Amino acid sequence: MSAQLIDGIALSQKLRAEIAARAAVLTAQGKQPGLAVILVGDDPASHVYVRNKVKGCEDAGFYSLKEQYPADLSEAALLERIAALNADPKIHGILVQMPLPKHINPHKVIEAISTTKDVDGYSVLSAGELMTGLEGFRPCTPYGCMKLIESTGVDLKGKHAVVIGRSNTVGKPMGLLLLQANATVTICHSGTPDLGVFTRQADVVVAAVGRRNVLTADMVKPGAIVIDVGMNRNDEGKLCGDVDFAGVREVASHITPVPGGVGPMTITMLLMNTVEAAERA
Ligand code: NAP
Repeated sequence: MSAQLIDGIALSQKLRAEIAARAAVLTAQGKQPGLAVILVGDDPASHVYVRNKVKGCEDAGFYSLKEQYPADLSEAALLERIAALNADPKIHGILVQMPLPKHINPHKVIEAISTTKDVDGYSVLSAGELMTGLEGFRPCTPYGCMKLIESTGVDLKGKHAVVIGRSNTVGKPMGLLLLQANATVTICHSGTPDLGVFTRQADVVVAAVGRRNVLTADMVKPGAIVIDVGMNRNDEGKLCGDVDFAGVREVASHITPVPGGVGPMTITMLLMNTVEAAERA
């Protein structure tokens, strides 16, 4: 039987309505949530991401500030701008769109953002808060994956979750969030000799690699939940994930499509973190 689709668009709409309602309460109190998005350079994909983030803010009733700088902006000038936004009471979240031009150190930039405004959850302190179970901002993509899993109604307690990928922004925080939800977690990576050995034991698989067909039907336990974070292009140039969707949907109980699964959730969780930042301010 075909798996049930986990609809990231529908879940996003529901969560964004809740976020907009929370924003309206804050705005009525004179504390409209504000997000600043900084874009340096001309990367075309970054322009699209930033446009979508700004639109998401506007639709949710946030104050949104988009700052665009040429690729030769100095690191010092960018750090100065972040310091000013850290001190700006209208701004509750600051996001610097990655990648940055090569002469700018991304770690320095991320660490310059005040922890109270780190709505991307990328700083060392935010990572430490997640690691130690303290309140803080969770990186948006894995946070969105958790909401998608939650929406299936399946309790993660006692389940075995396998994450494929160990990046600082997706794989590792994903593993920690699953652990926090009482799953038993395995994290696989490019050095894992036989992925299938692990994924075939998994009640939940999260694929975050960036390579097509990393997960095929023969690698999935019948009834598993499959979350596909990957964003790749197929031979026709169409967006596709890491999972062989047509095959795996015949084995899994629940599966996210690409597009329409994890993608819409990432900006939604950015808005969620920003409204939370405004509530805490
Ligand atoms: P990344 O930094 O390149 O990390 C990829 C991870 O996959 C690495 O840990 C790598 O292992 C592992 N890997 C590579 N080949 C593998 C293989 N054959 N078997 C097992 N593991 C393998 O990428 P990322 O930033 O985490 O993103 C992953 C994917 O998610 C990309 O397609 C990206 O575009 C997508 N993404 C989507 C969203 C969204 O909103 N939908 C957001 C973020 C990312 P090593 O560590 O050993 O190199």
